[in-house]
Amino acid sequence: MHSFYAHERNKVIKQTKLLDVVIVGGGPADLNAALVLGRCCRNVLLFDDGHPRNEVSHTLHGFLSRDGTPPEQLRAIAHEQLAAYPSVQIDQDRVVDAARVEQGFSVTTRDGRSFLARKLLLAAGVVDKLPEQPGFRELYGIGLFHCPYCDGWEMRDRPLAVYGRGDEKEGGMALEMTHWSRDTVLCTDGPSELSSQYRHRLEANVVQLA
Ligand SMILES: Cc1cc2nc3c(=O)[nH]c(=O)nc-3n(C[C@H](O)[C@H](O)[C@H](O)COP(=O)(O)OP(=O)(O)OC[C@H]3O[C@@H](n4cnc5c(N)ncnc54)[C@H](O)[C@@H]3O)c2cc1C
Repeated sequence: MHSFYAHERNKVIKQTKLLDVVIVGGGPADLNAALVLGRCCRNVLLFDDGHPRNEVSHTLHGFLSRDGTPPEQLRAIAHEQLAAYPSVQIDQDRVVDAARVEQGFSVTTRDGRSFLARKLLLAAGVVDKLPEQPGFRELYGIGLFHCPYCDGWEMRDRPLAVYGRGDEKEGGMALEMTHWSRDTVLCTDGPSELSSQYRHRLEANVVQLA
């Protein structure tokens, strides 16, 4: 977030209504917080510029009552239900600056508007850093995944490759994947950093190393 000059900020704050809560982010945590706050009659302004972490994903799984639902449908249902609470507003601008001020917090959006709230909730999400290798970005969410709990079931009993060079993390993931498929290979992309203990465990579980 960019810094915002203090005298400019103070000028805006004098003209701004004090909200109860500004929420930065529109993921499930943010939307659920907005729902509970709306039900508590709080004035809430939620900012979501619409690039969720799972925007490449076609369906979400393992979320009780919404298993197999497209992620945008989950968001649409949440927005529809929030519309019943008039004290909750959703804004599609991006928050680019936030600061502690006397009354609470000020936030500034990309289009230059400023808002003031007693509380600021930051749940702006995670950004996944993909390996640079060709094809990773194109296949992400289609045939390449980061979470077996989200997408492992759909890939069960198929030949699976786990990518990574480390020891416990990737070795552990390769071992874990044998719950979904006994045909699993760990691709270390160069010399592996696996300890002999992990190598033995992988061998014992018929996980190939490549
Ligand atoms: C490929 C893939 C598949 C997945 N599958 C599943 C699954 O099957 N089941 C499951 O439970 N989970 C799944 N997940 C994880 C799930 O998507 C996340 O746990 C969930 O979306 C919460 O993510 P988040 O907290 O990172 O927020 P996000 O969902 O990323 O939401 C954050 C939102 O805030 C907005 N935002 C961020 N900063 C600002 C700002 N400064 N101003 C305005 N708006 C802002 C973003 O644009 C975004 O829309 C999957 C993730 C990926 C990547």
